Amino acid sequence: MSATATRLESLRAEAATCTRCELYEPATQTVFGEGPVRAWLMLVGEQPGDREDRAGEPFVGPAGRVLDEALERAGIARDEVYVTNAVKHFRFERDGKKRIHKTPAVGHVRACRPWLDGEIDAVDPAVIATLGAVAAKALLGADFRVTAERGRPRDWNGRQLVPTVHPSSILRGRPEQRDEALAAFVADLEVIAGLR
Ligand code: SF4
Repeated sequence: MSATATRLESLRAEAATCTRCELYEPATQTVFGEGPVRAWLMLVGEQPGDREDRAGEPFVGPAGRVLDEALERAGIARDEVYVTNAVKHFRFERDGKKRIHKTPAVGHVRACRPWLDGEIDAVDPAVIATLGAVAAKALLGADFRVTAERGRPRDWNGRQLVPTVHPSSILRGRPEQRDEALAAFVADLEVIAGLR
């Protein structure tokens, strides 16, 4: 196993028992990032959803299917990308038997940041794409506005960083606007593909 793979596995094992914030308690498990240890591209989402929490893998639920389709349309293979989240445990509220997604707070993102920093250091991607506001604000600051800046590469700590929307926003939008929203997401991913 390469030094990078060993470092990632050690981070994954440490994160599995993380109690830095209270989100670990009601969640099923830590959902760490997945992908090649030396991926050229890292996608950073918000937090695992209900399916991801149960499966222990990032982006395997409905939003993950949208992401897979958009990546394919943009000419990026999912297995060449390292996919992770700014927060590694699922934050939710109970509504009867349902678990309803709740956006992580700034304190959760801050508490979880060392895991993300560790992944970035280990994988050393040339390009990072943030998916949605939580990930963008985590890396670019609280005042950052994704809608105004999406699809525009910028220098970030010696890498290229491109903010775009979270694929779940496409699912949450009006049905008649989904094709347009998906096309805009694909267009952002095509910009990212051009940085390869
Ligand atoms: S959300 Fe992050 S910081 Fe909080 S317990 Fe989970 S892994 Fe640790």
